[in-house]
Amino acid sequence: MATQRFWFLTRHVPDTVTFLEDLAHMAEAHKLKDVFAPIVAGHTVLRVLSDPMIQRIRFRIGAQDVGPPLLLRVAQLIREGTIKVEYDPKMQGGAEYDMATNTFHLGFTAAQTVTQEALVVHEAVHAGFDALSCKRMTVADSEAAAYLAQCTYARGKSKSAPTVRLLESSFDRASDLVFEIGWRLAGEVLDNRQPAEADVARLRQAVLGHHHYKHYTAASVEKYDGV
Ligand SMILES: [Zn+2]
Repeated sequence: MATQRFWFLTRHVPDTVTFLEDLAHMAEAHKLKDVFAPIVAGHTVLRVLSDPMIQRIRFRIGAQDVGPPLLLRVAQLIREGTIKVEYDPKMQGGAEYDMATNTFHLGFTAAQTVTQEALVVHEAVHAGFDALSCKRMTVADSEAAAYLAQCTYARGKSKSAPTVRLLESSFDRASDLVFEIGWRLAGEVLDNRQPAEADVARLRQAVLGHHHYKHYTAASVEKYDGV
């Protein structure tokens, strides 16, 4: 509810986000961060989802289109309070969308880097699939889509050379392959091209080799149950 009220403010008073971020820093110092942190985290998600770069994310994985309609629907559901955003310091800069409780958990409040913003995009793709109740979507498709959206956002926003890409934080070769392939396909998405099915298949395969998803098979299905 608080998020809804402050969203109204930020739409009509442009400096409100900065004000809220300052407030959160002050609140942290005064141990009031439990009150303000989720509000600021909610704004971070809405700010990322209203970034013009969202309009450049357009591709298809399996039977599912990923693009502005999917991501802007998530923003709408956050404003309505159907999807929630919480700050979880235990996540230490990471992020996660919990489809059982329809909640984003952010390990940061105001995103400080494009990498963190891109992580929000990754989780927003999962939230979008949850909103669509994609009951038969495989984990491989779900993650391939989320990583490709994440890489497209980061590559499009990056001011560095296009070869400077996202890297797997707990670096291992098999896991980093997801970002390596995702970054290359993101270049195609930014050129308004749909990646070839053979490349999408490589991305799915890389996801299944990533240490987070090793216990899944190509047939494993995600538990998207609606919001
Ligand atoms: Zn994911």
